[in-house]
Amino acid sequence: MLQQTQVATVLEYYKRFLNRFPDVASLAAADEQSVLALWAGLGYYRRARQMHQAAKQVVADHAGRFPETLDEIKALPGIGRYTAGAIASFAYDCPAPILEANTIRLFSRLIGLREDPTTSKSQALLWEAAESFLPPRSGAGTINQALMELGSLICKPAQPNCNQCPLNSGCKAYADGLQAAIPIAKQKAKPQQRDHAALIVRQHQLYLVRQNDGLGWWQGLWDFPRIDVTELSITTSKRQATISQAVEQAFEETLGLSCRIDSHAMTIKHSVTRYRITLECYFATLSSDAFALAAAGKRNKHKVGRASRPADKTRRELENWYWMALGDDQLPLTASAKKLVHWLNGNQEQ
Ligand code: SF4
Repeated sequence: MLQQTQVATVLEYYKRFLNRFPDVASLAAADEQSVLALWAGLGYYRRARQMHQAAKQVVADHAGRFPETLDEIKALPGIGRYTAGAIASFAYDCPAPILEANTIRLFSRLIGLREDPTTSKSQALLWEAAESFLPPRSGAGTINQALMELGSLICKPAQPNCNQCPLNSGCKAYADGLQAAIPIAKQKAKPQQRDHAALIVRQHQLYLVRQNDGLGWWQGLWDFPRIDVTELSITTSKRQATISQAVEQAFEETLGLSCRIDSHAMTIKHSVTRYRITLECYFATLSSDAFALAAAGKRNKHKVGRASRPADKTRRELENWYWMALGDDQLPLTASAKKLVHWLNGNQEQ
């Protein structure tokens, strides 16, 4: 949970997660939707899916007991060399090195690395440096933690306290006065603007949502029907009628939803990796054809709990589609869908 996420944000999620899944067996036995529902809002959902898979593997291959060797830990889904080394050295005192942001900076400066530290050549050199610090017998966990602390508190990104550093006598960057230039900063990818459109379709106090499938963003999470309309240049288009027409056509072509845009509801701006997304949300009415088309879909095998009671059973049984009540907390929603639900809750009269 803490990967790319601050402790203050994680705390509540962590408590709720452990309440619901107090051990590996309960996590392994859960369905993916319940796991994603407790993760919704934290982002990087692949972590949740992989942790779930790892719990299943621990139960299936290790009789529910977390493995203790580096190779077995590394074989679990979502666990790379760093995480495996951290678990093996902290929990079991295995002589396993670790490399993370603080130690990458520390070792880069110690060995005077003048290349991008993320390349495979640099990584090999950095792992080698990390290994060279490991004690021959016990104490790897303590050494690893000490190196991380040293990187975090003394060998800081800006203005490292080299005078207080216990490793300064062997530090190449210090000797050459290159602390500020090392590690070499990786060129950041330029942010890209994307325009998305979402439909708010209501029937009997229920709202149409769709589960994201395939390999795209937010896989497995539910959202209001949403498409990428960047090519339509809707934000630069002047006339609302033209925009509505273009969006209606795009929904028909992309999702097979024939609809009429009634009015603009709200705009949500958010980011995903290097993309800056402007999401325009519209109140819309589906044509009866669209209902028929959707109703012809396969059965929705997703179990979403008993919170919502769709008025029309046929319409509920759509593949990847669902009629959601605003108070339904069983569905794992995307962060933007949650914002929209929050907004709708405050605008029920719409
Ligand atoms: S001497 Fe300075 S640059 Fe070198 S490891 Fe220590 S704090 Fe970092």
